[in-house]
Amino acid sequence: MPSLFAKPISELKGVGSKRAELFKKLGAPTVGALLRLYPRAYEDWSRPVHFDAAPLDTPCAVRAQVLQVGGPVFSKSGVMLLRVRVCDETGAAMSFVFFNNPYIPNLLHAGQMYLFYGKITVKDGRRQMVSPEFAEADHAPGMRPIYPQTKGLSSRLIEKAVAQALRLLPDVLRDPLAQTLRQQYALCELRYALENIHRPPNEESMQVARRRLAFEELLVLQLGMLTLKGRNREESAFRVEQDCTDAFWALLPFSPTAAQRRAAAEAVADMESGVPMNRLIQGDVGSGKTAVAAACCFVAAKNGMQAALMAPTDILAHQHFETLSKMLAPAGVRVALLTGAVKPKEKQACKEALLSGEIDVLVGTHALLTPDVQFCRLGLVITDEQHRFGVRQRAALAEKARGTHVLVMSATPIPRTLALMIYGDLDLSVLDELPPGRKPVATYCIDSAKRLRALRFLQKHVHAGRQCYVICPAIDGGEDKASVLSYAQKLSRTLPDVRVAVLHGRMKPKEKDAVMEAFANGKTDILVSTTVVEVGVDVPNATVILIENAERYGLSQLHQLRGRVGRGKEESYCILLTDAQTEQTRARMRILCETNDGFRVAESDLKLRGPGDFFGSRQHGLPALKIADLNDDMAVLRDAQAVAKAILREDPGLEAEAHRGLRAEVRQLFSSLQSD
Ligand code: ADP
Ligand code: MG
Repeated sequence: MPSLFAKPISELKGVGSKRAELFKKLGAPTVGALLRLYPRAYEDWSRPVHFDAAPLDTPCAVRAQVLQVGGPVFSKSGVMLLRVRVCDETGAAMSFVFFNNPYIPNLLHAGQMYLFYGKITVKDGRRQMVSPEFAEADHAPGMRPIYPQTKGLSSRLIEKAVAQALRLLPDVLRDPLAQTLRQQYALCELRYALENIHRPPNEESMQVARRRLAFEELLVLQLGMLTLKGRNREESAFRVEQDCTDAFWALLPFSPTAAQRRAAAEAVADMESGVPMNRLIQGDVGSGKTAVAAACCFVAAKNGMQAALMAPTDILAHQHFETLSKMLAPAGVRVALLTGAVKPKEKQACKEALLSGEIDVLVGTHALLTPDVQFCRLGLVITDEQHRFGVRQRAALAEKARGTHVLVMSATPIPRTLALMIYGDLDLSVLDELPPGRKPVATYCIDSAKRLRALRFLQKHVHAGRQCYVICPAIDGGEDKASVLSYAQKLSRTLPDVRVAVLHGRMKPKEKDAVMEAFANGKTDILVSTTVVEVGVDVPNATVILIENAERYGLSQLHQLRGRVGRGKEESYCILLTDAQTEQTRARMRILCETNDGFRVAESDLKLRGPGDFFGSRQHGLPALKIADLNDDMAVLRDAQAVAKAILREDPGLEAEAHRGLRAEVRQLFSSLQSD
């Protein structure tokens, strides 16, 4: 790559060390990164309208001739006001108003044509523009970029820096997308793309640039994801010779749903095939994924393999350990637990037992991924709540699971196309059925005026022998958001007859386990917690969840939280408490109140949040997209995916000269990710 891209941003004129820090904050420490800091929107100056056709209160460009620049008028408070009389080509006239700008008479001249950009408003029955931006008609900017800003660094300053960077582009620019590829998919060159994403003369050229950059972004991401998986279909795998799932179902206190049977059968068929399984099980919260995982562990163990089940939190790992032990131990399957909380001595014993083959199923957190945890015949690796694992953990897992069967389970139901993107070429099983007798969780949205009533409602359920969750966004302190510790104190005063417990991420794993166990055993009534209970926790006796500051969470996350209740036969409730009055918040809460269907929630989430955001959120542990839009770029995604596969088939390590640029981008993408 030309060295320009690697140059620190401070080499640009007008960017001192202070400003360089601000650019860094926006993700642009180098000139190259600055060129990839795309505008989030544009002011469209390329299609000026007549006054009559101009919308009210919406920014637009108008083309007008200056008739007269008025003299300055001062208000009582000393604000200087200038009126400029203008008319458009139809002869319609209007006044534009400028405040505190003494230069206007030097910049706007009677008789000349200009483009003005601003909002037309109505004051005292007359239309006007207040402080519009303007440019001489012959030198108007086309589409003017609006950049993501930060305090002290305006969009205009960024625009200037970008213009400078574009001028510095070398004559010969290496394009990470090969010419043949660009031709095949009708993609423009890198130089055109960079120039026209930042300074497009019109919408069309911006779209041409955008499409190419989106393609490039999705291609790099796909290459990264596919490499990460490092899967190899030819590698030999442990083989299931004897399908004993029916024996497993007979161990359960309930009969499996048809969907559970189907998913388990599909997974077992994979394990019989002789090539490694790579399957994703998607099922809404409460659809019974654990039992499917247990079935697979059982079959694996009975066929001489060791299995590992990995959960994203200590709490969940502990719970899975209990559940699996209960199901499997009576059938002679040996289950063990390994988390960060396990004492060194026990850990050592556990590791030895693993190596000697005395353990069949190991349940744990990502502690399972450390190199010193070694199996003697690991045949199956399952990750629960896969979306909560970061990319680095996935990479470590792919390494550990090389040649073994892999089953991943996710409760974040994502549209199929998106699943394709995130999970690449995994096979998919869907648990589209809930165990019988479940009632939808009745969901309500209230504001803090009704908090006391809500708490009485919780109390009523406690008196009836049920349990409840209260979710707060913070652990302690903070005026603007509820915090677990002070909330629990207040709650104990408000409802003195209720046993309140607290749970949050800063507690030691052992303490968390103890609190969860007490709650699961009915020894406490209300659990005041942060979102650490969000994933997977299963206490069927809990029937009400009250979520404070509900506006702070994404829809999918709220749906996950809601999934902590409605796991038994009792009628269950989710109360979303928020004082946020924005239309956005209301729209989001409405969706949850209207549906219990995780797929619908996810789709709405995608629409409301914008896909870049949705994608980058911690729901998936993937990098945020800078330019591709998963609502609009599905076709581009499919193309990028096909190309990524073709490239890797030919050149798995991206070592060819032609792939140097792409390899650098893939590296950069993943090195910029924080493991979480
Ligand atoms: P999730 O898919 O959210 O991980 P779980 O595996 O935690 O769901 O199951 C939710 C609850 O449903 C558990 O209490 C589990 O025992 C119960 N369950 C699972 N499958 C069935 C079934 N077929 N019939 C009745 N209850 C079931
Ligand atoms: Mg689960």
